[in-house]
Amino acid sequence: MEQQSHPYGPSVARLVDEFAEMPGIGRKSAERLAQYVVNLKKPAAARLIQAIDAVKRSIRRCEVCHTLTEAETCEICSDPRRESSLVCVVEQPRDVISLEASGVFQGKYHVLHGCLSPLNGIGPEQLTLDSLVKRVREQGVTEIVMATNPTLEGDGTALFISNLLADDNVRITRLARGIASGSVLEFANKEMLADALRGRQSF
Ligand code: ZN
Repeated sequence: MEQQSHPYGPSVARLVDEFAEMPGIGRKSAERLAQYVVNLKKPAAARLIQAIDAVKRSIRRCEVCHTLTEAETCEICSDPRRESSLVCVVEQPRDVISLEASGVFQGKYHVLHGCLSPLNGIGPEQLTLDSLVKRVREQGVTEIVMATNPTLEGDGTALFISNLLADDNVRITRLARGIASGSVLEFANKEMLADALRGRQSF
């Protein structure tokens, strides 16, 4: 992290640097957020600290689908109205949120926590693949919908999984390519994602 000086002193400089690390926050926004914190009354500052602390203490991975949750099993996995035999495979927990916003998917999810990326040293053992195979073999999954990002690495990961499950009695589909190649699921709008889910094709 680049330590830049601040007219107020080093502790404010440090706070600006921390905010500047956040996604979508440039130095100007980081400066505004730091000013906000500087002006907070002590009880409000304590609430902010406690909110961050509570999240860091309670957030964990769902023991079934590996999305983030504060319970042992996430809301979607615990919902008896959701179709357990239909599982949508995504790279990140935020992709679950994007797909849920489309409101058309009635199945469950499986979060890989990344995609295969040999250049970055991410191999199959870094992802939640064992658990996915186990779900297919032991939990009666009949369809896997590949919703990895339409990037080289996302596609490679989907292909790897489909090979992994080639001998299993499971239908493998993928999101329709309404999503521009190379784009990331997180930034697709919900209508696009709804179309991509409805129009899913055999892998
Ligand atoms: Zn879950």
